[in-house]
Amino acid sequence: MPPPAVPRLEVVSLADGPSAIEPPRSLAPRLRWTPAEPAEGTLTVLTIEPSPRGQPIFEARARTGEQPIPLAPLRGGGYLGLVAAPIGKAEVPIQVDVTLIDGTRISQSLTLRVATRTFPATRLSVARRFTAPDERTLERIRRERELIRAALREVNPTPLWRGPFVLPLEGPTTSPYGQRRLFNNELRSRHTGHDIDGDTGDPVYASNSGRVALSHDLFFSGQAVYLNHGLGFYTAYFHLSERLVNNGEWVDKGQLIGRVGATGRVTGSHLHWALYLRGNHLDPLSLLEAGFARESERLLLEPTALAVAP
Ligand SMILES: [Zn+2]
Repeated sequence: MPPPAVPRLEVVSLADGPSAIEPPRSLAPRLRWTPAEPAEGTLTVLTIEPSPRGQPIFEARARTGEQPIPLAPLRGGGYLGLVAAPIGKAEVPIQVDVTLIDGTRISQSLTLRVATRTFPATRLSVARRFTAPDERTLERIRRERELIRAALREVNPTPLWRGPFVLPLEGPTTSPYGQRRLFNNELRSRHTGHDIDGDTGDPVYASNSGRVALSHDLFFSGQAVYLNHGLGFYTAYFHLSERLVNNGEWVDKGQLIGRVGATGRVTGSHLHWALYLRGNHLDPLSLLEAGFARESERLLLEPTALAVAP
């Protein structure tokens, strides 16, 4: 296990000019990330909180590389952001810029060290039309890729999920996230979701509340539903026999959104459950971690966030 990262502190400027006294480290906002040593392919929660001895935070911003990390307020004056620890990345650099209530600006940078994980491999046989699609099908695949990209582009600035996530379907795992795959010995890919065994017609529930970003029949994913949970984060439900929600619709946690099926590129009926965070496919099981639930419970949720226009 790599040693936990230690944030580096830098005071960029002080409201009263360079003659002002630098705040000691104990007054700087506290940065924490849960889990402390994220594994490849998981979601990490970053929290930024005012030091108990310091000033309240007026404004906070965070980014990884050039990509901003949207932040949501926590009770007690802190902020929460979601960070991807993608497969194949040993480190994730994070930059946090905070302005305290007295105008002091503090920059902190840290490097999340990502723990390596061993993913199993498997060989699959599927219909040849899925590994060698014709020209018309290729055109359909291109069109759908664009549709999905557009649906997942929106970064809702407020969290739309509420408290802990739940499994969308109870059942044995048939294929874990990250599994390396050989289709008919030809096409190599990596499993981008978590497969749960089920019979055609079994109910599929929303793993948390959010807005339907896309409800569509797709070539590879079959009947598919994508839910937007805010802060650039989405869950998806594939290979359904039936979709029971429409684009733009609000869904509550535990709401029936579809039924298990065997549509799209499949070898049998099951649910493919997926997690997307701003361009990264991550393991949806990381949503069920106690740490994620605990931090989610601390979100400061304004009742107006859910209000619809009168
Ligand atoms: Zn799958």
